[in-house]
Order: sequence, then structure tokens, then C-alpha cells
Amino acid sequence: MTQKWDVVIIGGGLAGFVAANYLTRNNLSILVLEKGKKVGGRARTDQIHQQYFNLGPHALYKKGKAMSILEELTIQVPGKSPQLGGVLVKDHLEYTAPFTPLGLLTTGLLNWKERIEWANTLLKVISIHTEKLEKQTFEQWVQQTTDSANIQSLLYLLGRLATYCHAPDQASAKIIVSHLKTVLNGVLYLDHGWQTIIDQLHNKAVVSGVQIETHKRVKHIAPLEQDSFKLILSNDEEIFGKNVICTTGPHELQHMLGEKSNFSFTKMKPVKGATFDVALTQLPNPKKLFAMDIQHPLYFSVHSNYARLSAEGKSAVMHVFKYHHPDEKIDEKKVKNELEQFLEKIQPGWKNYEITSRFIPQIIVNQRLPQIGDEQILQCSKQGIPGLYIAGDWASPDFILAEGAVSSAKQAAEEIMKREKS
Ligand SMILES: Cc1cc2nc3c(=O)[nH]c(=O)nc-3n(C[C@H](O)[C@H](O)[C@H](O)COP(=O)(O)OP(=O)(O)OC[C@H]3O[C@@H](n4cnc5c(N)ncnc54)[C@H](O)[C@@H]3O)c2cc1C
Repeated sequence: MTQKWDVVIIGGGLAGFVAANYLTRNNLSILVLEKGKKVGGRARTDQIHQQYFNLGPHALYKKGKAMSILEELTIQVPGKSPQLGGVLVKDHLEYTAPFTPLGLLTTGLLNWKERIEWANTLLKVISIHTEKLEKQTFEQWVQQTTDSANIQSLLYLLGRLATYCHAPDQASAKIIVSHLKTVLNGVLYLDHGWQTIIDQLHNKAVVSGVQIETHKRVKHIAPLEQDSFKLILSNDEEIFGKNVICTTGPHELQHMLGEKSNFSFTKMKPVKGATFDVALTQLPNPKKLFAMDIQHPLYFSVHSNYARLSAEGKSAVMHVFKYHHPDEKIDEKKVKNELEQFLEKIQPGWKNYEITSRFIPQIIVNQRLPQIGDEQILQCSKQGIPGLYIAGDWASPDFILAEGAVSSAKQAAEEIMKREKS
């Protein structure tokens, strides 16, 4: 007889494994299907020449939703918080970042009036009720908050740093500012990368009886009569399940449902960036650990100064990153050159110390740029097809990035457990 699983989870990333771990509490039969040869999705860490490379810069928010859910699942998150500070580049000149009291006092970026305004703006961000920003774009909020061009640039920069979104004219102020509030409470860089989280979630799931199959790409989801589903894989294998949690992106989900889809995710677009992950035997300039460009969407941070990211623990592992605008046409060669030039500016002569590096010109950081009105679209999708649940960094109306992936996964698991009990 063909087995019918209680729950089939499409995708073995953070969302898939968080959902699986909650579902094991209810003694359900659970199958995870992952199209890749490895699990982990975008939370994977690759070991290259004994260096641990996350897929670009990853920071876990100390007071965030993901942290509290991972704690609930007894997942350890070893690592350290990076120090605030570093430099900001403007017109090719470097300035102390005004992100600490000392930085604020000493930076040449702002005049005295602007320093006071910047301090007040940060206090405002911390205490703001973000529900009030529901109908505004981030750009509208920034322009309403200050007339100073310098302070506006700093707010855009912080918005990019916190959320990876580089489209203030399109992004929802509510989501950007509320995520920024979470980030301002501190972040952690994790020892051995985010694979640490994935490995623990994976092992716990296996021990609890979850079946995990890699190299299994779901091609089609067919809702059947009597609340169940037939999934057709790319090798034409058929899998049957009572409930399905889909953790792919919105467009892939729509594609898998074909004409059965009554979702309207067409307007959704992903947040993308380019990452240049680099390991050096040593830093040419050991004092420069963090830098961002104010006028260009560029980031640099040495993660290994805080987290253990190499087998021998001596090298310097850093990420240089470019935030892409969602409507931008990407010239990959030009982007690589830009990232190398930025690194050269901060760490002159870095090439002489290179152990290894990896350039990914376009990577999806979040499957959905949070926009005004997304809540309604996501709400409608919930009433879509009984037994089909969505999870992932795009699926929560209130959170993005890992916060969205983990919280939507927990919610999907809880809804299934409730459904199965009734
Ligand atoms: C450069 C970069 C920096 C980031 N920085 C941060 C950060 O600092 N803080 C933070 O909180 N988050 C950050 N993130 C985001 C975070 O990594 C993601 O939000 C999170 O890993 C998403 O998990 P997920 O399970 O929703 O999706 P994914 O990790 O994408 O998992 C989905 C899985 O489904 C699989 N799949 C897709 N289609 C199919 C199919 N048809 N059949 C079977 N399997 C399928 C995929 O292979 C994948 O493994 C960053 C991401 C990137 C790329």
C-alpha cells in the first residue's frame, strides 16, 4: 500500500526543520523533501579550504523571534556579538560610525546639531509604535522624520544593514522599522556558521523519527478529494500526504499548484544581493572590522573576529556585500569589481593574504520585499487550500529573514497540530 504521510514538508531549510521539530511533539508521520544534495537552504554553511562560509553575512538577532523559538526547541547558538562602531565611507573618505556614544562624539560626519538630532532619532526608533507606520513606505517615514540629508542617509544605511532591503521607495516602513528595532537590541555571529543551527535541528528531527530525503524536487502539488495531496516529484515519483507545508518561494509555490492556485503572489519580488565571502591568513588592517558606504549600498564585516569560522581558528573570515535594488539589472562583472574595490579600500593589499574566496552575484536574501498591503495577500492565502500551509521568510506578515522563516514555520506546525487533534 502507498504510504500516506501526516505531513509532507517541501524544503529542508530553516523553516522546514523548525516546522518538523514542532510537529514531532504530536507523534505525526513527517517527511521532508529537499531538492538540494544538502539540507540547510540559505542557512547552510559551506566549508571551503577549512574556512566556514555562510551564504553571505548572517547575524542572529539576540532579542528576536527566531532566537526565542530556537531556545524553545533547545537549540544552542554559540557565538559572540560584534562590537558596534567601525567606519562609514562618504565621497571616498572614512568617518567614525556614529553608532556608539564615543562614535557620536568623535565622528566628523555630522556637525553638532546633527549629532543631537541623530541621537534623538535613534531614541525615537527604539520607542516608536510601528503599527502607526502601516500605510507608509520607509522613504516616506524617513523624510517625515528628518530634513537633514545626512541623517536621512544614515537611516537608509541602517535600514539596509538591518533588513537587506535597498528599496526605501517600495518597502513598508512598518516592517523595516520594526526589524530595525530588533536588530538594535544586538546580534550574534555564530561559531561554525548557521550550519550549527541546521545540524542541531536536523539531528533532533532524525532522532524523533522524521524522514528526510534529499535530491527530491517537488514538481507538482495536486490537492485531492478528502483533504489530502498528491505530490509529483521531478523523477515522477508520487508522494501522498494529509497536510503539506511548503517552504519554497511564492512564485515556485504558485507554479507547483498550476491552475489550482488561487493565490496572487505576482506582485511579490525578492530581496537580492551580491556576496563576496573571503578568508585571509591575516588582516592587512586589523583595526578595520566593519565598514559601510553611505552613498553606495556596500557592506564589509569581519565575522571571524567574533565567531569561530575556520578549523585552525587563526584566519580572518569576512563578507563584502552589495544590496541590490529589486528593479536593477545586474552586471555581474561590474558588481564583483565594486566589491573587490571596496575591500581594497578597507583592507589594502588583501589579495596577498587570500586563502580562498567566493563570489555569488545574485542571491535571494528574503523571498519577499515587504510592501504595503502584503498582509492582506498573505491573509487570503491562508484561506486558500485546506491542508496546505506556507512557511518561509516571505510567509509571515510581520517578520522577514530568519525571523519570518522561523515564526511562520512554528505557526504552520501549530495549525496542523490543532487540525489533527480536532
Ligand atoms: C546573503 C544572505 C544574508 C542573510 N542574512 C541574514 C541575517 O543576517 N539574519 C537573518 O535573520 N536572516 C538572514 N538571511 C536570511 C536567512 O538565511 C533566510 O531567511 C532563511 O535561511 C530562509 O529559510 P527558509 O527555510 O525560509 O528558506 P530556504 O533556506 O530557501 O529553504 C527552502 C528550501 O527549499 C528547498 N526547495 C525549494 N524548492 C523546492 C522544491 N520544489 N522541492 C524540494 N525542495 C525545494 C530549497 O533547496 C531550500 O533548501 C540571509 C540570507 C542571505 C542569502
